[in-house]
Amino acid sequence: MQKYQLYIGGEWKDPSSGEWFETIEPFSGNAWALIPRANKQDADAAVQAARLAFESSGWADITATQRGAMLRKLASLIERDAEHLGRIEQRDNGKLITEVSGQVKGVAQWFYYYAGLADKVGGQVIPINKPGVFNYTKYEPLGVVVAITPWNSPLALTVWKMAPALAAGNTIVIKPSEYTSASLLELAKLAEEAGFPKGVVNVITGFGSEVGEPLVKHPLTAKVAFTGGDSGGRAVNIAASANFKKVTLELGGKSPNIVFDDADLDQAVKGAIAGIFGAAGQTCMAGSRLLLQESIHDSFLERLIETMKQAKIGDPSKEETQIGPLATRAQWEKVLHMIEMGKAEGARCVLGGNALSGPEYGQGQFVAPTIFTHVTNDMQIVRQEVFGPVLCVFSFKDETEALTIANDTEYGLAAAVWTKDLHRALYCVDRLEAGTVWVNNYRSTSFASPFGGYKHSGVGREGGVDAIKEYLQTKSVWITTQPNRSNPFVLG
Ligand code: NAD
Repeated sequence: MQKYQLYIGGEWKDPSSGEWFETIEPFSGNAWALIPRANKQDADAAVQAARLAFESSGWADITATQRGAMLRKLASLIERDAEHLGRIEQRDNGKLITEVSGQVKGVAQWFYYYAGLADKVGGQVIPINKPGVFNYTKYEPLGVVVAITPWNSPLALTVWKMAPALAAGNTIVIKPSEYTSASLLELAKLAEEAGFPKGVVNVITGFGSEVGEPLVKHPLTAKVAFTGGDSGGRAVNIAASANFKKVTLELGGKSPNIVFDDADLDQAVKGAIAGIFGAAGQTCMAGSRLLLQESIHDSFLERLIETMKQAKIGDPSKEETQIGPLATRAQWEKVLHMIEMGKAEGARCVLGGNALSGPEYGQGQFVAPTIFTHVTNDMQIVRQEVFGPVLCVFSFKDETEALTIANDTEYGLAAAVWTKDLHRALYCVDRLEAGTVWVNNYRSTSFASPFGGYKHSGVGREGGVDAIKEYLQTKSVWITTQPNRSNPFVLG
């Protein structure tokens, strides 16, 4: 079995606890690698190393153009090793090999994009309202960025933070999910090969309470970029705010997918499936609430159920598989528990609602695609994020009712509208309380476009030009151009 080490200050190190834990392949249930169990001491070493690197001439004094070149080199190494990285990630979290392969190629694209942006973010000369001074702004990096990420898309969600953070001139300590650490340790090998100075990139692994918390609380940590669940996000936000650290939080969702009766229904059925059954529902942007206009409700539901009955469920390493297992045993148990909760609340289960077992399901961490109808907005199955293949279906009369149902949630990550009527689409776009709105598509994302949540779904944005500013701070510089003749006792 492969035994990994921590990557701190450019060195590969055993954890100071002397302990490792197993990482499990969800489909087979087999442990396949040993992951170091880092603790507070390792967290301190990693943040110290990152701070030292931030101050050292090898990183602080290189130009933004040179930083961009290093990121480009890393991107090309990821492209070279994409298949290897994809297999590791697929093995660790049980996602479809077809989806993971695409995601790893996307990871390289994120590095190329921010490599290009590294030397294009400049300050301003301010047309200042005072005589005898010249005022300009410049952007400076924050220092040590801590990136904490979940298990559903380990490489992608880390790179959403790492690429802009490094392009902006920060150093980084990455703490991946305890369930899916291997691909990030592999990425550290590529960062080493790409020639980043020692300590610029550090990866330490372990549990949230043992190593995540000390990283967040460390006095030398300047910013925390977190993707994960609500409770972890809240804990991180509170701990970081105690010392006024900056945060980006990408949290959960309960996104509405609204289909009007004038939509292209073939596309809308595909969109409903992609929304909730893609990645077995284990995506923050899952379209877990499907809102169907009443005139098409029954026929649409029937088509959806028929299509899902044909879905190929099984081994995620096979190209033909469409739905894989849930990534962790704990998540599998949680999803089944929530399904039972939905039934007990009176929601009607019209598809699935059970675990799947049999030789084609490996060690059985599968949940059948599940659809609930007769749901109301006060049910917990409607209000809570399930993070599994569980869809709640509503019927609505018109735009007003659809928007009322859609916005009645603590979350605000994403939403979709399916209609051929441009006015109707834009009416909904303007009123949906969500950081992303798709019209006639679902789950589109890009390095070039901002992603993030309204309401409880998060703080800040990842992706696009503006996201690099989440890793920069503004300095205002005043230069005297004429001798100062004002009264020194009065603020000028
Ligand atoms: P999680 O919150 O349990 O864990 C996420 C990471 O945080 C892990 O690395 C964990 O070790 C660490 N962590 C947990 N508690 C911590 C603490 N107190 N201090 C520091 N670190 C801590 O989430 P998860 O179960 O791994 O992931 C699933 C969740 O992630 C879902 O709720 C999902 O919606 C969310 N998610 C959001 C997005 C997005 O972009 N908005 C994307 C993917 C997943």
